[in-house]
Amino acid sequence: MTLHKLALIPGDGIGVDVIDAAMTVLRSAGERFGFGLETETFPWSCAYYLEHGTMMPADGIDTLRGFDAIFLGAVGWPETVPDSVSLHGLLLPIRKAFDQYANIRPHRLLSGVEGPLKAEGFDILCIRENTEGEYSGAGGRVHQGKGNEVAVETSVFTRLGVERILRFGFEQARARRKHLTSVTKSNAQKYSMVFWDEVTRELAAGYPDVTVSHMHIDAMAAKMVMAPQDLDVIVASNLFGDILTDLGAAIQGGLGFAASANISPDRANPSMFEPVHGSAPDIAGRNIANPIAAIWSGAQMLDHLGEGEAAAAVLAAIETATAQGIGIRPGLHSTDEITTAIRAALEA
Ligand code: NAD
Repeated sequence: MTLHKLALIPGDGIGVDVIDAAMTVLRSAGERFGFGLETETFPWSCAYYLEHGTMMPADGIDTLRGFDAIFLGAVGWPETVPDSVSLHGLLLPIRKAFDQYANIRPHRLLSGVEGPLKAEGFDILCIRENTEGEYSGAGGRVHQGKGNEVAVETSVFTRLGVERILRFGFEQARARRKHLTSVTKSNAQKYSMVFWDEVTRELAAGYPDVTVSHMHIDAMAAKMVMAPQDLDVIVASNLFGDILTDLGAAIQGGLGFAASANISPDRANPSMFEPVHGSAPDIAGRNIANPIAAIWSGAQMLDHLGEGEAAAAVLAAIETATAQGIGIRPGLHSTDEITTAIRAALEA
């Protein structure tokens, strides 16, 4: 029997609940499809930071290196730890250290879910650059607290980084409805974003079967609201992808449905799977978090680990549950009820 070694980082708030829920479903999938999941749980979180002064130990990255995949809930507790500390202390270092440059976020209206726009047929795949761009961390502050204080934060776009994320997007488009939309702001950002547009055009020549649109981020935000069904694969920089995928999540019914995979495509390092949502302090500890985003992320993880059939079955089970009205609106069902319904559908 194949055994997959998973590092679990539940994190903070509802991250803990949704990882628990998702693991229940994934273990059922393992029983049905004949693979095992060997897990080790790491308590790295804001609570860990308050005790140790760091979000993870100094050898945290080395520890994670030995796993087949990382499954993360959510990290952040702004009341006690600034978000910039929690994000830059755990998530971003993992994405960068393991070169998880492709952040894949599927947004689709599941059966039974309407979403605020009732955008029937909405089914897009957002590919977000995950290691550089606006989140490169290059910058600094001088004269802090003084009248002449300066804060500089530089976006970094490399040919290697831009080419590989666009190539990844073209390959995904080829496997879907063969349309790619590249999102920039090249009218205003005349160096980095014009460069991104140029690279898109260069690569497009190698994918004659894929049609390409270029859109500015502001127009894209409007299009996602006005005609979301017309979109297929979207490729965007770190910041733009981050923002557009919260919009995608809203259109698909809320953050509780939005899954995400941080992929290290050459497989030299573990990839990381996590729902798009955060730790949701406003609903933490109340058993009302929607676990579907985490379970769907878990399905992406199974697929990445070579368990494609099990991944498809988990997704089908999610959709069987939502088609029956389970979990389709916030507060309608508890985390446990949604998990039980999905597990039952998987085992049926
Ligand atoms: P959030 O995603 O935690 O919550 C936004 C809203 O969506 C809240 O009203 C919340 O109740 C709701 N929501 C989120 N997930 C839900 C779910 N599964 N089911 C039902 N409702 C859900 O975003 P936020 O409030 O901006 O951030 C809270 C904390 O999470 C911050 O510290 C932030 O930095 C962190 N954060 C972490 C990640 C991550 O770990 N990947 C992502 C985003 C935010």
